[in-house]
Amino acid sequence: MADCNETIRQLYAYLDEMLDEVLKNDIALHLGDCPDCQGRVEFEYSLKLNIRARAQEEPVPDELRDRLLGCFNLDLEAE
Ligand SMILES: [Zn+2]
Repeated sequence: MADCNETIRQLYAYLDEMLDEVLKNDIALHLGDCPDCQGRVEFEYSLKLNIRARAQEEPVPDELRDRLLGCFNLDLEAE
């Protein structure tokens, strides 16, 4: 089964449904078992929807995306 690091690493691909079935199931299994990662997925998912909604009006600055990703990595290391 995927661990937390693996799940975080694949999170964007997972949300974009770009993973193959095996990996996707693996991540889904971990999510079913791990409230921490579930929370992250929900957060990222709502963020993604937000960004997508905004992107219809204006392009998303890369810098903002990088900063958000940076926050995310910091959280992970703090655990
Ligand atoms: Zn986890």
